[in-house]
Amino acid sequence: MMPPLESVPDDPVLPSRVDAVVIGGGIAGVSAAYFLAQKGHSVALLEKGRIAAEQSGRNWGWCRRQNRDERELPLMIHSMEIWDRLAAETGAELGFRRSGLIYVTKDKAELAQWEAWCAMARGYQVHNRILSPAEAKALTPGNEQDWIGGVHSPHDGRAEPALAAPALAAAARARGVTIHQNCAVRGLDIQAGRVAGVITERGRIAAATVLCAGGAWSSMLCRRHGIDLPQAGVRSTIFVTEPAAEVTPGGLVTPDFTISRRLDGGYVVAAKNRGGVEITPQGLRYARRFWPTFKSRRKSLTVGIGRSFFRGPEAIHGAWSFDKETPFERDRIFAPAPDTSIVEPALKAVSATYKALAGLRMARVWGGWIDSMPDAIPVISAVDKLPGFFLSTGYSGHGFGIGPGAGRLAADLMAGDTPVVDPRPFRYARLVDGTDLGTPGMM
Ligand SMILES: Cc1cc2nc3c(=O)[nH]c(=O)nc-3n(C[C@H](O)[C@H](O)[C@H](O)COP(=O)(O)OP(=O)(O)OC[C@H]3O[C@@H](n4cnc5c(N)ncnc54)[C@H](O)[C@@H]3O)c2cc1C
Repeated sequence: MMPPLESVPDDPVLPSRVDAVVIGGGIAGVSAAYFLAQKGHSVALLEKGRIAAEQSGRNWGWCRRQNRDERELPLMIHSMEIWDRLAAETGAELGFRRSGLIYVTKDKAELAQWEAWCAMARGYQVHNRILSPAEAKALTPGNEQDWIGGVHSPHDGRAEPALAAPALAAAARARGVTIHQNCAVRGLDIQAGRVAGVITERGRIAAATVLCAGGAWSSMLCRRHGIDLPQAGVRSTIFVTEPAAEVTPGGLVTPDFTISRRLDGGYVVAAKNRGGVEITPQGLRYARRFWPTFKSRRKSLTVGIGRSFFRGPEAIHGAWSFDKETPFERDRIFAPAPDTSIVEPALKAVSATYKALAGLRMARVWGGWIDSMPDAIPVISAVDKLPGFFLSTGYSGHGFGIGPGAGRLAADLMAGDTPVVDPRPFRYARLVDGTDLGTPGMM
């Protein structure tokens, strides 16, 4: 079971009209609502389950520039600046600390990739340090292994997923956003060829702009309205440990495991190379579009068939009607089962390399469903064929850290303001107009 989420108060009465509706209470949706409210827009945020109960409350919490695809780097840099000021601005603890990230390796090709990345990032004034074998050893005190090198990003860090999106949602609410949990959007209200609002399970809300920040469910909602959004999910498992000795202050990636120090003194642990691709009807629909990415990541994925074929965001759902229960209400919180077989080997690997962590014990384990785009870059964009409709989705396993920046960019686009960064890398059209999507960068 995932750690308990901070709860966010609800607004029982739906407004009949607002400037903007936000669909989805993950980090993408709440941060867009927060920035729209800052711009003076009236906003209703609709969440079918609870704020942050899907990906945004289930992740490692890493907020990193290191190894980002270059197309995302300017937005990520901006996002880190927002993280820096959010605690003071909202008066809430989001758990954000620039506690640093260390990557170490025994693989020359991996080290070469990091060197190339650091050279590129210097052009954006990001100065991370490639580590010699001795420096890598010195930065991993107590670790029994030797490395050929590594990379250190001292100014990257981590926020607490159980706190961050709920805190931002509460702050958005304090700025006038109404928040409606357990309230699914069944579909868009389209009039005269443009968005006129949404139809929820509790009634209609009129709005000139609507943002779909529905995480893994975005493709299904779009498809209901004839909008093609190639999206695919990967099942992932993480676990946290009981509090234990501090061997690293931030995050550490080794060839066998990844650990991140939590504020409570425990670690988030992830075993390397165990994402699960489940065959689903939606996955089959978009298989050709994801083939290049799948091929390049094949070694780090297992493939199988599971419950997600029949239930959840990628199952078969016909064109549902808006006056009956919809798939969104049937799975208010999509919580894939964790693969608990990773726990013992990962604990063994951690305690074999760190004597100080001998006897490390798992406290909680849970699963998450990561939604991806074919090029592993999100869509933060208007959808030209449906004026008034915007997307902020497809964060491809690294949307938590970039979430505040993404919210700001989505709000700029919806308000018609000058965007905070060049929005072209995130445009929706690239997915449907035959653009060569290239190969995805490092994850
Ligand atoms: C195990 C794991 C580890 C990860 N580690 C990291 C990390 O360290 N750093 C990082 O940056 N990223 C990480 N990620 C990825 C990150 O969690 C996601 O990219 C990010 O949280 C996506 O946010 P989101 O708001 O787009 O989606 P979500 O958080 O999934 O939110 C979407 C919300 O929309 C709601 N919704 C959908 N349809 C409807 C509807 N019709 N009506 C109303 N509500 C609806 C859903 O209920 C959901 O709450 C990780 C993910 C996982 C699973």
